[in-house]
Amino acid sequence: MELGLKGCGALVTAASRGLGRACAAALATEGARVFLVARVEDQLRATAGEIGAVGWMAADLAEPTAAERVVAAAVEALGRLDVLVANAGGPRPGTFASLGEREWEAAYQLTLMSAVRLARAALPRLEASGRGRIVNITSISVLEPIPNLLLSNALRAAVTGMAKTLAGEVGEHGITVNNIAPGNILTDRIRQLEAPAAERAGIDLEERLRQVAAASPLRRMGQPAEVGALCAYLCSEQAGYITGQTIAIEGGMLRGV
Ligand code: NAP
Repeated sequence: MELGLKGCGALVTAASRGLGRACAAALATEGARVFLVARVEDQLRATAGEIGAVGWMAADLAEPTAAERVVAAAVEALGRLDVLVANAGGPRPGTFASLGEREWEAAYQLTLMSAVRLARAALPRLEASGRGRIVNITSISVLEPIPNLLLSNALRAAVTGMAKTLAGEVGEHGITVNNIAPGNILTDRIRQLEAPAAERAGIDLEERLRQVAAASPLRRMGQPAEVGALCAYLCSEQAGYITGQTIAIEGGMLRGV
């Protein structure tokens, strides 16, 4: 299927590894011109070369001025902006008792405010595009809170509320706003989150990952490229009537209907 992405300008944040990288790679494969952001320069440069990105910028999205700077750099490199994939590193795990004021503030900046600021900075350009797309990478924690991921459970719900409201406000400009809610997709983040459980159980990480995969109806974890394909579709011309939605990609692990 031809997705109508050829020549589009796409900014993908937190894109040097994992899901962001997969989204950027899928968009580039469909002919979009992509601009990448992450903190660590070496990895970012390597990824940009591998997927043929037009440009990249090292920035910490938790920093309040980062969004404006990366959107300006992306527009300069791409000459236009049609797609924003707003992704960031995950907030730190923890329970209500273990997380203090400082952790809440850091997660608020990284998880909620980065999405707010990126959207705010990108909107004038997306409006000019006439077919703007915003895709936020969230989590299935918005559909079923995950134990020990309190900050994700709380702040991604806020991103979801923001996105739904924004979708209603910018639809008249042809802009769609959607969220991708991944379940267990095999990336560094999943390895980090599962490492303590492996240690507690006295098994190695690969065995723990096999157990988590086996508990899923599809008996496997998702691949980043599967998230990338969903992202490319949500950014396509064909998805122009899908907005304000949270699309889960989780191998059937959620039990609710
Ligand atoms: P990942 O493999 O750990 O990759 C994280 C990416 O984000 C890297 O490119 C990293 O590069 C960048 N990054 C991290 N912190 C950043 C910051 N402050 N500013 C700019 N870039 C930053 O993680 P992932 O699995 O792709 O996850 C992406 C998002 O999806 C996370 O929010 C995660 O919690 C969420 N999620 C993932 C899953 C899953 O199954 N993988 C499930 C649910 C939700 P640098 O380190 O160089 O900055």
